[in-house]
Amino acid sequence: MIKGIKGVKDILPEETPRWRLIEETARRWALAYGFHEIRVPIFEVTALFARSIGASTDIVEKEMYTFQDRDGSSLTLRPEGTAGTVRAYIEHNRAADPLPQKYFYTGPMFRHERPQAGRLRQFHQFGVESFGTADPRADVEVIALLWRLLSDLKLPALTLEINNLGYAADRDAYRPQLVAYLKQQEEHLCGNCRRRIEANPLRVLDCKVPTCRVATDSAPRLADSLSDKARAHFGSVLTGLDTVGIPYSLNHRLVRGLDYYGLTTFEVTSTSLGAQNAVGAGGRYDSLVETLGGPMTPAVGFAVGLERMAMMLPETLSVSGAATVYVAGFGDRGSPAGFSALEELRVAGIRAVTDFRSASLKSHLRQADRLGCKFTLIIGDDEVTTGLATFRNMDTKVQQEVSLVTLISQVSALLQSS
Ligand code: ATP
Ligand code: MG
Repeated sequence: MIKGIKGVKDILPEETPRWRLIEETARRWALAYGFHEIRVPIFEVTALFARSIGASTDIVEKEMYTFQDRDGSSLTLRPEGTAGTVRAYIEHNRAADPLPQKYFYTGPMFRHERPQAGRLRQFHQFGVESFGTADPRADVEVIALLWRLLSDLKLPALTLEINNLGYAADRDAYRPQLVAYLKQQEEHLCGNCRRRIEANPLRVLDCKVPTCRVATDSAPRLADSLSDKARAHFGSVLTGLDTVGIPYSLNHRLVRGLDYYGLTTFEVTSTSLGAQNAVGAGGRYDSLVETLGGPMTPAVGFAVGLERMAMMLPETLSVSGAATVYVAGFGDRGSPAGFSALEELRVAGIRAVTDFRSASLKSHLRQADRLGCKFTLIIGDDEVTTGLATFRNMDTKVQQEVSLVTLISQVSALLQSS
């Protein structure tokens, strides 16, 4: 038997109602905040991700699904949604349209990671990107959207952490101090972090390995190297969050695993999630559009993981997916009449099912119960003769006659009054 790929999951019919709830909630909030849906491809040329995410990040170093196309070009399954969205923004010259341009997307992402609870190789993200506004209120807007949609889903024990990464020049000024400090601490750092001392020292601050955390506890802080302009921007973001009533906590270690972020960076975590506790994250990326060949365009966005959101919704989440009417057609004449009524109900937009294997009223009723149908429409040979079918409430067992001629209007009325 051929099995699915490790870390690549099926989402079965029992689970899709909660996925739909998440997707629909996210979509509704995004629209409320003035974002429009964009759908970008699942694969792109490899250089797009390498250049935007950054060569010495986890994603580009070891997590990308990269393959050679038949013409020899290198392609990659998207590990995140920002790079493709920015490429589309540039390629379709959206900067020439009235700004700001605000997009949202949802779909599968691919990263070659060690699969575990909340960490898959094919996973799903919902994300937003807001192009063209440098104003700190644009940062507040995307953070508020993220917070509202997570709160609307009543996800438990959420914390919003936020940090200021400053401008590139601020980080350049800070980097030598950090590198000097990390070199002193080298023996206490994990292998990954040792390699990063020169290549990507800020990422060392974000390492989850306990010894690395202790070793970097008294490292010099980026906050102390920030320019006035960077402080002012961040100050306005925090004020804005206070204004709209979004609670946050400052985390000076939060640097995120993608190189394109500057100024505001944020992450929402939940203590109910276990080891992989990040629900979603984002930040400002004012230089990415230019890096990828577009015009200077300030931008800010976030992405949330749908698997992790689904894990946090109660198992018992009842979403009505059950059909409402079961059609029990049996007998030489009742069976075809039932089949025709079934089609009539569906065409009228009423959820209706049957079981073609059942040939008696008894087995039909058993199936109706098993499928959780609220009503059964009974059509045997007698009903065909009289032209009156029986409409049975499966809970109360109350039965009513409905004419086969005016079936749809009568059933609709009964469903409405139930
Ligand atoms: P983590 O610290 O958990 O590795 P990350 O910094 O790599 O997260 P981002 O690239 O910012 O994550 O992606 C945003 C969100 O997407 C994460 O907060 C998480 O909910 C989800 N996510 C990221 N990678 C995976 C994965 N491999 N499987 C499932 N969800 C993921
Ligand atoms: Mg990761």
